[in-house]
Amino acid sequence: MADYDLAVIGGGLNGVSIARDAAGRGLRVILLEQGDLGAGASQASPRLIHGDLQVLERRGLFRVRAALRERDIWLRTAPHLVRPMRFVIPANSDERQPWVLRSWLLLYDRLASRPRLPASATIDITHHPVGNALKRPIGVAFEYSDCVVDDSRLVVLTAVDATERGADIRTGARCVRADRLDSWRLVVIDRGHRRVVTARALANASGAWSASVAETVLRMKPPEFGAVQISQIVVRRLFDTDNVYVFQNSDRRLIFASPYERDFTLIGTVGHAFKGDPAAVSMTSGDVGYLCDAANRYFRERIELVDVIRTVSGANLVAGPAARDGAMAFDRTRGKAPLLTVFGGDVTTARLRAERALDRLTPFYPMSPRWTAHTSLPGGDFAWERFEDEVDAAVARWRFLSEPQARRLVAAYGTRLAAILGDARDRADLGPAFGPELTGAEVRHLMTMEWARFPDDILWRRSKLGLTMKPEDRDALAAFMAAAT
Ligand SMILES: Cc1cc2nc3c(=O)[nH]c(=O)nc-3n(C[C@H](O)[C@H](O)[C@H](O)COP(=O)(O)OP(=O)(O)OC[C@H]3O[C@@H](n4cnc5c(N)ncnc54)[C@H](O)[C@@H]3O)c2cc1C
Repeated sequence: MADYDLAVIGGGLNGVSIARDAAGRGLRVILLEQGDLGAGASQASPRLIHGDLQVLERRGLFRVRAALRERDIWLRTAPHLVRPMRFVIPANSDERQPWVLRSWLLLYDRLASRPRLPASATIDITHHPVGNALKRPIGVAFEYSDCVVDDSRLVVLTAVDATERGADIRTGARCVRADRLDSWRLVVIDRGHRRVVTARALANASGAWSASVAETVLRMKPPEFGAVQISQIVVRRLFDTDNVYVFQNSDRRLIFASPYERDFTLIGTVGHAFKGDPAAVSMTSGDVGYLCDAANRYFRERIELVDVIRTVSGANLVAGPAARDGAMAFDRTRGKAPLLTVFGGDVTTARLRAERALDRLTPFYPMSPRWTAHTSLPGGDFAWERFEDEVDAAVARWRFLSEPQARRLVAAYGTRLAAILGDARDRADLGPAFGPELTGAEVRHLMTMEWARFPDDILWRRSKLGLTMKPEDRDALAAFMAAAT
């Protein structure tokens, strides 16, 4: 008998979502990730949970409606990671006509399955705080509701849930060979050790690596799609309000500027074809300049290349115009073990994509029914409207936390915060401090429960504390983690 029912190659959002869904349906699952969870394209998303106005513009009504339904599901199942926001589009009659924008937004409101978020509105930003950061003479803007998400933590908490449902999640485990018989025989270099595992089915969810994995690991014909990279920039905070700005650029792209980790702004995205090693994807200065120019058209405060604190890039295969939903192929050649290939697509529809992928396997296994639409991610068992109550409760219970600290921790761990802070009465009870935010207790939790192995795993994926951490604190963290391994 095979060791597992399903092996998944790739610990990006697609891979962990498939592993979670499968484990919850009763399958024995192993997931193999060569580096850290979410270290590929999944950490470079625009961080939006949305129906996508640009899809609406291309008349993709059904896709927008499906994505808005998913938006509701995420709000219900991951209220710590997914925050509703008011998005603001300044009207600019050099671009789309204001009445066209307004009509889209009215349609967008109508397409939302349950209009629990406030409807769109027209605002006079000359007399509204959202106008303060903008250049004159932009007088009118439209605001509407959508959500932002912590994409990296979404990957990790999906993996945590998968493991709690029995999945075996292996990071630092590179699949180097897969032989297809009536089951799969995989050769894995698992943290330096060669290991062989067998599985009844295989999911190739290796993102931009899908083609090279198909060619060199599976030794099959690779998917015939090109890779595309997207990039974003992080700059100092350019506005005080808690909104996402949506700017119409002269090439008709919509550029998003979102609040990012309290003191910063994330601006993106820019994309183009990519060739090369997906692990080495980086942003060109031309792309950085493009995003600075787009922001400078609208924001009062100018930004230049030197103001860019960090760039975020990722590559994935893109399967043409249907790219938003990603691509899925299912190969069940007679007498051979089944192969699923899933890549790309946006964060909003990842749960649905995984559910559909698992549905393809139902003829092969007895499986329990679909379940992920109704089950919270770890720490997400509270109503999204009560997020601030959770923050207040954390400040009341752990009095040494400042409100911003409590907000960061609730946003990361939700109702599972006690697993880190326990009965601590003072910060000193939480072990060594690495800067004002990170404590030994949190680091230990991330290492034992969330697969963190190196400082970057914590500073850039399980949190974004790398933005503010001083070099000496980082060195202390590296030493602490090395000693704890
Ligand atoms: C062009 C582009 C546009 C995008 N647009 C949007 C958008 O509009 N909205 C949005 O929400 N998101 C967008 N995204 C990002 C989106 O979040 C990701 O594409 C999505 O998360 C799916 O990622 P993935 O799981 O397929 O790939 P990845 O996150 O890259 O994961 C693949 C993983 O496989 C691992 N791997 C590879 N080979 C092996 C091996 N041999 N053994 C073990 N592991 C291996 C890699 O290390 C990697 O971690 C876009 C991304 C791109 C590139």
